[in-house]
Amino acid sequence: MAPSIDPKASSKRPIHDLPTPEPESPMRPRKPYRFSTLCATVENPDMKDQYGSSSVPIYQTSTFKGIGNEYDYSRSGNPTRSHLEHHIAKISSADHAFVVSSGMAALDVILRLLKPGDEVIAGDDLYGGTNRLLTYIRTHVGVTVHHVDTTNPESLHAFIHPTRTAMVLLESPTNPLLKIADLATISKDVKERASNAIVIVDNTMMSPYLQRPLEHGADIVYDSATKYLSGHHDLMAGVITCNRDDIAKQLAFTINSVGNALAPVDAFLLLRGIKTLALRMDRQQTTANIVADYLNTLGFHVNYPGLPDHPGREIHERIADGSGAVLSFETGNKALSERVVAGTRLWGISVSFGCVNSLISMPCVMSHASIDAATRAARGLPEDLIRLCVGIEDVHDLLDDLEHALIDAGAIEFNIVQNRYVRVRGPETGEAISMAVEKLALQGSEEQEWLVSAPGKVILFGEHAVVHGVTAVAASVDLRCYGLTTPREDGKVSVHFDDIDNFYHEWDIDELPWDAVTPVPAGDEHPEDLDQKLISAITEGPLNGLIDSKKNAYAASLAFLYMYLVLADGERRPSFNFTARSTLPIGAGLGSSASFSTCAATAILLLQRRISLPPPPAPSSSSTGHVHTSHQGRRAIPPAVAEEVNRWAFVAEKILHGNPSGVDNSVAVFGGALAYTRAGFERKSGMEAIHGFKSLRFLLTNSKVPRDTKKLVAGVGEKKANEPELVNGILQAIQSISDEARRALADPEMPRDTLLSALSALIHENHGHLVSLGVSHPSLEVIRRKTAAEPYQLSTKLTGAGGGGCAVTLVPDDFKAQDLQNLMTELIREGFQPYLTSVGGSGLGILSPYGHHRNRGSVARSAQLSGQITPPETPFSSDDSESHLDAGEGAADSYEPLRSIFETSSILELPEWADNLGRWLYV
Ligand code: PLP
Repeated sequence: MAPSIDPKASSKRPIHDLPTPEPESPMRPRKPYRFSTLCATVENPDMKDQYGSSSVPIYQTSTFKGIGNEYDYSRSGNPTRSHLEHHIAKISSADHAFVVSSGMAALDVILRLLKPGDEVIAGDDLYGGTNRLLTYIRTHVGVTVHHVDTTNPESLHAFIHPTRTAMVLLESPTNPLLKIADLATISKDVKERASNAIVIVDNTMMSPYLQRPLEHGADIVYDSATKYLSGHHDLMAGVITCNRDDIAKQLAFTINSVGNALAPVDAFLLLRGIKTLALRMDRQQTTANIVADYLNTLGFHVNYPGLPDHPGREIHERIADGSGAVLSFETGNKALSERVVAGTRLWGISVSFGCVNSLISMPCVMSHASIDAATRAARGLPEDLIRLCVGIEDVHDLLDDLEHALIDAGAIEFNIVQNRYVRVRGPETGEAISMAVEKLALQGSEEQEWLVSAPGKVILFGEHAVVHGVTAVAASVDLRCYGLTTPREDGKVSVHFDDIDNFYHEWDIDELPWDAVTPVPAGDEHPEDLDQKLISAITEGPLNGLIDSKKNAYAASLAFLYMYLVLADGERRPSFNFTARSTLPIGAGLGSSASFSTCAATAILLLQRRISLPPPPAPSSSSTGHVHTSHQGRRAIPPAVAEEVNRWAFVAEKILHGNPSGVDNSVAVFGGALAYTRAGFERKSGMEAIHGFKSLRFLLTNSKVPRDTKKLVAGVGEKKANEPELVNGILQAIQSISDEARRALADPEMPRDTLLSALSALIHENHGHLVSLGVSHPSLEVIRRKTAAEPYQLSTKLTGAGGGGCAVTLVPDDFKAQDLQNLMTELIREGFQPYLTSVGGSGLGILSPYGHHRNRGSVARSAQLSGQITPPETPFSSDDSESHLDAGEGAADSYEPLRSIFETSSILELPEWADNLGRWLYV
């Protein structure tokens, strides 16, 4: 039911009542007054001043005497405020106007029209305070908010629901990138698809002088009057205008109820400011055009809708009467921009805009500094961006001051041939890269596909004994899990686990159990214990019914959703699909779950912008065409990123296994080899990388016999309890084996032959001890015999829990290819599955977004040093030619998303296909 209304707080008088002016005679009609005249003429025929005062008096009073009079209490109504509201309605083409204590207060009043269950569609590049308030409404009022790219009206269509959509909130131009939304088309589209939805426009950047969105179909317009309407940075205020009486009634009710109407003194000051609005705006805009042109001519990239090449210029010209007085430009270098900003004298360094004084700022260092760098990049906010808010000073002085700062900073220099100042350009290659980064940033990380991969592991020595405090040696294998994220635009998140019965499931993001989530803020670590309340909420909500019917898919989905929910700190709830494929056998003790956990954690952390990649490598390293993936080679993923991924992969492992050692996820993230010792047996618990580990070839043979790890571990425990001397002796022996293996693997001096024969002997010995512990299996012994037989003579041991699972066989470097082929054929004939793998290679890998395409699908493209981005897949738009990177021949303009190829290519081809996509960055 609509709220009842206090008649005093509503705008009772007709607003367009100023006789502006009546025709003097039918023969000589007079034209209506223009905007600047309306601005300067503060008159309300219904409120004539008793003394004929020229300016509106300040009624600095809270109460009014008498009963039944027009005014009784200033929260409900005040004559100074009424004058102001009348004046604002007049200049805004509005039937109703309200003034409140700030721009944010105005939005708050408007958002109180919403009720639980309503949906709001809002821009993805809104003023930060607006985002903050929307987040509050979403989390406290039960309203769904969809953020979309409003520069493209069509991107809203998917989100408009005929009954649920209650509001569409727009800004145009945006601040500080000056992006344009087609307010008229969006308003029309919304009305056609959801007749009850109201369109709201934040008009602060334009003011009613330059843009009156009510004339283009908007239902409510609000301004931070702190800016242009006031013009002097001496007050805070917000104004709301609308034409619909029903909406006006509700707004008035809220203002009267919460008591945030503008105070009389501020109403007076704002009224005074508005009188010069057109004058100030004309001057500021004219100068802004000159400044934009000046910077553009120097060679800087300038964002200003008044420039001929602005992508939204044509739309803006249809809707607005001018380009405004805010512009931004890039110098190409953050430090350079800082010097420019620090070098100006007339341009004051300050946030906000709309004042008569000119202001300069660097959004990434000032107004947007609270947003982390990765998020800023993803929103396409260049770090070097400088914003200029042009005031009314003499244009020559402003240009002079700016020029001095640009020269002193080294941003421009005099060119004798051209006889003028020009921008000092960085080396071409450097610019190409910065453009690539910028282009990437503009895509936004959730509009981007991310392909990640992580290796499985083998325990080379020390399994089972590790439970009792003996050191185990684990190393990565080059069988990997791959994870691909693909953006969605329907507010859902989905998973596709190719190797777990081709499991696919999708969930409405808004229907996930957000109430049960305790977010882990960026930079914080997950508490030691899992959040059981959240696990129950996920199990009973989105995963309802899966726990019994699809155990593995349930566990993997639980780990994924758990991380997705606790990592969604604040606003970010990206909509995407995550597909995982594994070249590792699942459940064979090769760390398939840890490599999955690592891929899922990396993908979510990237999309939540908790981690970001380092800038692209220097051109010299890329010019080698380097796509090397060795752990010994490039370590392009910084340790801090790897540590963060590892912490979250461990959380996922806990979800999957209850009490993991942390070895598997550490190997999956860091690759190489490590020695792990659990507390006990006279040692402290710890993990140590084996530096200098030399990559080795192993044959991994899956016996395909399922095992019960818990039972096997318990069996050894029991044996130890019954025969402590025997078992302790075995454990001692295994400890010696691990120590010796570790020394040999890390010894840079040891000849390769010696290393291989030492390892062979240790493998043999270690297996013997495992047999004594009772954890082998006939199938594993068959594999051992086959590999040890003539002509192969190879050493094999079980790996992991035993009782089935896998065996590892060391393959010397000079082992004949034909023999290997024959051995593998024999093993397959016996019903086993052998994999030739190298051990000790790269850990976590992320397909670089800065690399170049080499092979997309079956079409090989020439690799160019071009900075072309892999992924994302979105083609560069043709109107964006300025930043279109010359990718040379083969720079196709129609990339297909990776997903279909990723999901359909054979598992055997997957590693090579992934390798050929471009440059991989590794830990
Ligand atoms: N909308 C926009 C576009 C703004 O720039 C601002 C303030 O910077 C606001 C709203 C909030 O206005 P106020 O600071 O008056 O609350």
